[in-house]
Amino acid sequence: MKENKTLMQYFEWYLRPENKLWNKAIANAQYLSAIGITDVWFPPAYKGAGGKYDVGYSAYDLYDLGEFDQKGSIETKYGTKDEYLQAIKDLHENDIKVYADIVLNHKIGADEAETVYASEEESDNRNIDTTLPTKIKAWTVYNFAGRNNKYSDFKWNYSHFNGTDWDEGGRKNGVFRFSGKKWDKNVDAENGNYDYLMGADIDYNNPEVVEEIKKWGKWYVETTNIDGLRLDAVKHIKSGFMAEFIHEMRKIKKLDCVGEYWNRNIESLKKYIEKTNSTIPLFDVPLHYNFFNASNDPNYNMAQILEHTLVKENPCKAVTFVDNHDTQPGQALQSFVQGWFKLIAYSIILLRNDGYPCVFYGDYYGIEHDHIEPVNDLKTLMLIRKEKSYGLQHDYFDHNNFIGWTQEGDDEHINSGLAIVISNAGDGYKRMYVGNQNIGETYIDSLGNCEEEVTIDEDGCGNFGVKSRSVSVWIKK
Ligand code: CA
Repeated sequence: MKENKTLMQYFEWYLRPENKLWNKAIANAQYLSAIGITDVWFPPAYKGAGGKYDVGYSAYDLYDLGEFDQKGSIETKYGTKDEYLQAIKDLHENDIKVYADIVLNHKIGADEAETVYASEEESDNRNIDTTLPTKIKAWTVYNFAGRNNKYSDFKWNYSHFNGTDWDEGGRKNGVFRFSGKKWDKNVDAENGNYDYLMGADIDYNNPEVVEEIKKWGKWYVETTNIDGLRLDAVKHIKSGFMAEFIHEMRKIKKLDCVGEYWNRNIESLKKYIEKTNSTIPLFDVPLHYNFFNASNDPNYNMAQILEHTLVKENPCKAVTFVDNHDTQPGQALQSFVQGWFKLIAYSIILLRNDGYPCVFYGDYYGIEHDHIEPVNDLKTLMLIRKEKSYGLQHDYFDHNNFIGWTQEGDDEHINSGLAIVISNAGDGYKRMYVGNQNIGETYIDSLGNCEEEVTIDEDGCGNFGVKSRSVSVWIKK
């Protein structure tokens, strides 16, 4: 039987080391499966510059999965290597696949600084030098003494990077391009060339680097037995390398993947998918911003909610989401969807045929740091996705304030099929077609917002209600 897939982003920014995430996943593996999670995206599992307080994106040593005494602790923020491997194993035993979060754009937390020649670049046009090459002291030496050559004896130095943002000698911030280096081509065009994001930017034109990263990838997949890769910051990495890397990794295991290309312009996303030969699906960033805007604008035209999104234009390559660790309050890309709109947004990603939805940990469990409560009824929608969200779909995106759709259901899933109505204004209803096979059936609002029952008439239609600024999810009684 074909079941709908649901990914969960199993972390938010402000988890604490005491939360012991890998152990929480071990304890909850069965539960996650029961609520319809088929895939889990784990945070970066290797040692970051901030040791056990690092969320994981300040990648220090990719070979240290919480095994070596480096950066102040053996464990990472989420636990030890053994706990990580156990969590993956337990999730596998509950038929859940695991995505690893891979940070390949940069390194942070070097062991030593060294003197190099570099030109400073204009920060919003990295094709323009503002200084001649001068001596700076750059944090680019990585020896990993705590690991003592286990798994790899590769040592990093300035020759493996394109540039950095800090001159230790002059105590100065900036965008510094090392002499003799060029920013990688085939990256996002923002700021002239967006190869440089943060830290020491890895040079994918250096064959030693390409070889070492592929070697690491092979080691990682074989060591952990993960099933998928969430590729961080791909808009800052040469697209040709990314496609080549995925191709290499798939020789080891049939891996799923999703790239984080943070650009709200659909054309940039489509271009990247094309350049990587459709091998890398992307998070639907434009859809996130549609949700964010709709949640903040009382006059938002709901009929347009799917316009200029990946899920509409290339649904097979769209990983849809409502929020994530970067969009949550206090974070770099803060654009948190307002509370009243959350369940509406989740109905759009969970209860339609298109797109592969990702549920955010911070929405499911709440965000303690900011006293944000879990999204009410999210679990109900996830269960409805698992059990009932199947069959032919009919869309009614035909009104500024009231939109809806139905799914007829299929024979494989008992009592499947549904009808959704969304309002961003007052109470209302929509007359919608649910299929002739459902004539005479009675539908109820699974969330209990509307108390009446709806009986499907001889045309296969029903009048489905919705309350002010909410979603009603109608299922068979
Ligand atoms: Ca880069």
